[in-house]
Amino acid sequence: MVTLVDPHGRTVRDLRISVTDRCDFRCRYCMPAEGLTWLPRDEVLTFEEIVRVARVSVARFGFDAIRLTGGEPTLRRGIVDLVAMLRELPVDLAMTTNGASLDRLAAPLRAAGLRRVNISCDSLRLDRFAAITRRDALGKVLAGIDAALAAGFDPVKINVVLMRGVNDDEAVDFARFGREKGAQIRFIEFMPLDAEGGWSRDQVVAADDTIAAINAVYPLEGFAHEVEPATRYRYVDGRGEIGAVPSVTRPFCGDCDRIRLTADGQIRSCLFALDEHDVRAVLRSGGSDDDVAAVVERAVGTKWAGHHIGQVTFIRPGRSMSQIGG
Ligand code: SAM
Ligand code: SF4
Repeated sequence: MVTLVDPHGRTVRDLRISVTDRCDFRCRYCMPAEGLTWLPRDEVLTFEEIVRVARVSVARFGFDAIRLTGGEPTLRRGIVDLVAMLRELPVDLAMTTNGASLDRLAAPLRAAGLRRVNISCDSLRLDRFAAITRRDALGKVLAGIDAALAAGFDPVKINVVLMRGVNDDEAVDFARFGREKGAQIRFIEFMPLDAEGGWSRDQVVAADDTIAAINAVYPLEGFAHEVEPATRYRYVDGRGEIGAVPSVTRPFCGDCDRIRLTADGQIRSCLFALDEHDVRAVLRSGGSDDDVAAVVERAVGTKWAGHHIGQVTFIRPGRSMSQIGG
C-alpha cells in the first residue's frame, strides 16, 4: 500500500462522496430558490462505480474515512444498499444530511453499517428555518435528529451555518439544544460557495465570536482536534462538547486530508478547486484499477496549500456547495 502525500506534505486519506446533486431543500447559502439543473441520470455514478473508486482508494492508498454527502444523500434511491456495500471497507463511514428523511432512514442506515451522521440545521425557530431553507421542514428535521439519536449514532453532530443578521442570535440556543439532546453542535462559517454568488465577508459570523458567546453562558475549555477541521471545546461541567469550523477566519487548510468525488465522477482536490479529475471517463472506458488509482493520485498531486478566501487572488469555483458536497 502507498500512502498518498500531497505536494505540501499532507497525508490524504479522507474521501467525501457526493451521491446525488439533487436536494429537496433550497438553503439560501447553498442553492437558488428555483433549484439547479439536475444532472441527467446517466451522468451520475452508479453504486458499483462509487464503490470501485472507494475500494481502490482504500486498498491502494489506505483511505480510512468515507463521508456520503450530496445534494441530499438520502434522496438517492437505494442509499441504504450503498451503505451496506461500503461497510465491507475498513473505514469510518459517515453521512452529512439535511435530516428530513432520517425519521424513516436512521435505523436502516445504522443497521446497514453507517457509523456517524452529521445533520444540518440552521435555526430552531419554525419561521426562520423555513426562510433559510425555503422549506417548512423544521419538525421533520427535529424528528430526524431524535431518530438518529434513538438509532444509536454516536456522536450525532448538528452542522449550523450562522449568518450575520439572519440567525447569529441562536448560538446559545443551539448550545442548549445540543446539551439537552446529547448531540454535538458544529458551527461552520459561511463560505463563498452559495449558488447565487451573494456571499460577502460581513455576513460571516466568526467562529471565535460564536464560541465566546456560548462560553459566557456555558463555560468551555478547548482541546486539540484529531482528524477533523473543527476546533473542539468541552463544557466545563461535563455536559458534552461543541465544535467550530473556522473555514474563513482561520482556515484549516494546513491539516486538510481530503479529496472529493462529485456525483458525476469528478475528483476535486479542494472545495475551492478550479480543476477536476475525470474518473468517470476511466471507469466507463474499461480502465483498470491501476488507471482509477492513477486519477486519485493525480488529484492529490494538485492539492493547493490553501484557499484564498478574502484575498484578491480568490476565484469562486464553478460549482456551488450542493454540487460539490460540503
Ligand atoms: N444536503 C446535505 C446537508 O445539508 O447536510 C449535505 C450536503 S450540504 C452541501 C453539506 C454541508 O454544507 C451542510 O452542513 C451545509 O450546511 C453546508 N453548506 C452549504 N453551503 C454552505 C456555505 N455556503 N458555507 C458553509 N457551509 C455550507
Ligand atoms: Fe440542500 Fe444541503 Fe444545500 Fe441545504 S445545504 S440546499 S439541504 S444540499
